[in-house]
Amino acid sequence: MERRNTMQRRLVLECVRELEHPNAEEVYKLVAEKKPNVSRATVYRNLHLLTEEGTIGQVRTGEGADRFDHIAQPHCHFRCRDCGKVFDAAFFPQPYPKPARVGGFYVESCNVEFVGLCPACDKKL
Ligand SMILES: [Zn+2]
Ligand SMILES: [Zn+2]
Repeated sequence: MERRNTMQRRLVLECVRELEHPNAEEVYKLVAEKKPNVSRATVYRNLHLLTEEGTIGQVRTGEGADRFDHIAQPHCHFRCRDCGKVFDAAFFPQPYPKPARVGGFYVESCNVEFVGLCPACDKKL
């Protein structure tokens, strides 16, 4: 049982790494392609556990379901309003390592979301 759990966890983590800020359903779909016998409940439970222990991060976007991020440190995101994909906003200087004391404030997390068109959608218009 223990071994099976470890294997499922690793598989879920691997899928989060492979996808670009996937939501839980997208992770489940990729897991199911690799191992059809893993249930949706197992995938959701493992996503929750990995987030709780800080192995993966969670991205709350202004729209749709929460997404998961293989980078657990706080960083800025860019959401495309056309295709809905979420990217790491590498063009923007990343604010603070976690946690940080800034001007008397103890910063534990940071959530900055840029919204616009990704390069592919920008080209389409
Ligand atoms: Zn786009
Ligand atoms: Zn990210």
